[in-house]
Amino acid sequence: MKVVCPYCDSYIEADENMNCPNCGGSVSAEVKEAEDLLREEEARRREEETAQQQKMQEEERGMRLLELVLGAFTGAMGTRRGRGLIRAMINFFTRGKKGGMF
Ligand SMILES: [Zn+2]
Repeated sequence: MKVVCPYCDSYIEADENMNCPNCGGSVSAEVKEAEDLLREEEARRREEETAQQQKMQEEERGMRLLELVLGAFTGAMGTRRGRGLIRAMINFFTRGKKGGMF
């Protein structure tokens, strides 16, 4: 763990049980603090990753639901008119704003 020695201000590599190689001062508090910070950062990163994964899963679920609905439409109305409606629905979902026909 890289820390700054509080006694001589050297930037040193140390662990909790080590003293500063420069001046011999105890740096265990600094090492502990740095490790805590690192742990917090890692926990935050993990949280962000989990949130992102959940978001992706939700989007996937949404797509699957959309496919299901479209599939049901295709099955129910395998006609030319039905296909036109499905195409209009796909446009509605992909372009978003132009949903005038609904
Ligand atoms: Zn020192």
